[in-house]
Amino acid sequence: MNKELSTTILSEIHKIIPEPKCELNYSNLFELVCAVMISSQTTDKRVNQVTPTLFQKYPTPEKLSQARYEDVYECIKVLGFAKNKAKNLISMATTLHTVFHDVVPKTLEELETLSGVGRKTASVVLAEGYKIPAMPVDTHLERMAKRFGYVDENASVLEAEMAYRKYIPEEDWITAHHLLLLFGRYHCKAIHPECENCTLSKYCLYNKKI
Ligand code: SF4
Repeated sequence: MNKELSTTILSEIHKIIPEPKCELNYSNLFELVCAVMISSQTTDKRVNQVTPTLFQKYPTPEKLSQARYEDVYECIKVLGFAKNKAKNLISMATTLHTVFHDVVPKTLEELETLSGVGRKTASVVLAEGYKIPAMPVDTHLERMAKRFGYVDENASVLEAEMAYRKYIPEEDWITAHHLLLLFGRYHCKAIHPECENCTLSKYCLYNKKI
């Protein structure tokens, strides 16, 4: 990989996805944290089905911190890992209310002190919520990093993130994250990627193997 090749790959993806953006619905930073937290192991579409009720019942960190576990679980039970997610939502809201006075923190370190908020979720909140350059690597970005040769097959998620940071200009991280995620989600899927007629095939290591 090099910076020039990375730019070419991203501009080719941009032609396929002209309007890269977050597909989770939210109307404030608190809602964004909740939505991203519960989006693991499920689809954004499913998250968007449960969040209207969740946000209506618990519009603030204080309200959510006072919620009964059973009630929060009921709101999100169609999602995978709902039990853990419900516990984490209440715990996160409690810390947000008592420690951060209802203001979603603006640094990776502070965000990672919230229950259920790891590096990826924290990076999404920074990038999406605060427009602070960050490169969240989820399963799609990890796969894209390997298929396009940002990293080798055995690389960790953190190594993939560092490679993206190295080869993509910082001012492009947020857009690049959306492009790679949406390309991975809808075109270059984990199983049965749409390789026929893929305009990225000449840059793709996966395609060279099959
Ligand atoms: S050729 Fe297939 S694996 Fe490679 S980028 Fe295109 S869809 Fe993905």
